Amino acid sequence: MFRFLGNDSKAKTADSSEATGSSWRDVFGGVFRRGRVDDELWDELEEALIVSDVGIQVSMRLVETLRERVSREGVSDPDVVRLMMRDEIVRMLDSAGSSDGFTVDGPLVVMLVGVNGSGKTTTVGKLIHAAVLDGRSTLVAAADTFRAGAIDQVRTWAERGGSECISSSPGSDPGSVVFDSMQAARARGTDFLVIDTAGRLHTSSNLMEELRKVRRILDRESSGYSTRVLLVIDGTTGQNGLSQARLFTDAVSCDGVVLTKLDSTAKGGVSLAISGELGLPIWFVGTGEGLGDFAEFDSRAFAYSLFPSE
Ligand code: GDP
Ligand code: MG
Repeated sequence: MFRFLGNDSKAKTADSSEATGSSWRDVFGGVFRRGRVDDELWDELEEALIVSDVGIQVSMRLVETLRERVSREGVSDPDVVRLMMRDEIVRMLDSAGSSDGFTVDGPLVVMLVGVNGSGKTTTVGKLIHAAVLDGRSTLVAAADTFRAGAIDQVRTWAERGGSECISSSPGSDPGSVVFDSMQAARARGTDFLVIDTAGRLHTSSNLMEELRKVRRILDRESSGYSTRVLLVIDGTTGQNGLSQARLFTDAVSCDGVVLTKLDSTAKGGVSLAISGELGLPIWFVGTGEGLGDFAEFDSRAFAYSLFPSE
């Protein structure tokens, strides 16, 4: 599924990581310009990681891993440490679950969850667009039934991407929209169904309860389909993104992440916190507001933007 997204994913990831990269180069420049590898370097490195939204736990773990490797290999040049750090980042990002979660045999249903404004509905359009280009038959379920205008919005994005949209009246039960959509998808032999959900206030336990219900219905009704729950995280939110991720994974157990707005953030470091602390792989990145501004996350291209070779 979506093999063609790989074509320019490297360039798109690299281009849209530029602001994050520039901020990292500012923050880490001094750390690695030191004359030697000493305790102060490790302290500064840990601090720089924390400042860069990597999160305390993952920052400490990264420094510890690097320290062990540096002492084992007898490295004394700080710039070599910098390049080792880049390798460790790639390794960490890649070790968080499968990097190609959409490679499935047979039909697939994807449910998008995340707070309001994170980019779920836009991502519906992008996923549909990609699937249509790949020759797949598609369908969208408008299961954000709470917010006025949400149904029209997802219909617009579905149609832009090239899909029909199954919806119900505002205020209706999102679970029944999912039920109806699964029935329709099965009846039509649809390859790819994408479910948009509501994302009001991530602190609202009602929302989480509602999502749990929707997920249960999905699990019950989706036999014959592979299912994926994608957590959509706004890349501009920094550490907030991590607490959001926790709430959603606790409620509905997510499989992978779409990190949106990578093009307009310097806080891309949150991807390391998400992968490292929650063990969730970053599968896709949003690289702009258009239908085609979407890519598979290329961990290597990302890490090389943060720590270029020169
Ligand atoms: P939802 O509430 O989660 O459904 O979020 P929306 O899909 O409505 O998106 C919220 C805002 O984020 C909109 O203004 C989108 O244009 C914008 N947006 C979504 N994805 C991206 C992205 O990858 N890059 C940029 N720059 N903006 C994005
Ligand atoms: Mg929406």
